[in-house]
Amino acid sequence: MYCRNCGSLNIDNAWKCVNCGTILQGTASPVAAAPRMTIPSYLAQAIILTIVSLWCCLPLPLGVVSIVYAAQVNSKFTAGDIAGAQQASKNAKMWCWITLGTGLLVVLVYIILLALGVLSNMHIGE
Ligand SMILES: [Zn+2]
Repeated sequence: MYCRNCGSLNIDNAWKCVNCGTILQGTASPVAAAPRMTIPSYLAQAIILTIVSLWCCLPLPLGVVSIVYAAQVNSKFTAGDIAGAQQASKNAKMWCWITLGTGLLVVLVYIILLALGVLSNMHIGE
């Protein structure tokens, strides 16, 4: 890595510049300082929900909203916008639940309509 102060080339895991003595580690960007920090993007869940929605022929573009937010998590996190990434993560999670809830509601309505249809067919048959 290069020293931020004088620009001298130091070995990658150096903690102090060999030329001017500036501390190299601990002053890095939030992303570099917290490499193990992860924010769930819910991208997999969002994609699965969208595919299931399409597969069930449900008119649900809601899953796409989750994917958009999920994609923002990684891009904002990479850009060092931790707060923005966390907010996008929350939105992605929320839209996953909205998609799931709406999907279940549509299935429930479908089952009720199907049941009503069966009942009315029974009346016709009498
Ligand atoms: Zn230096």
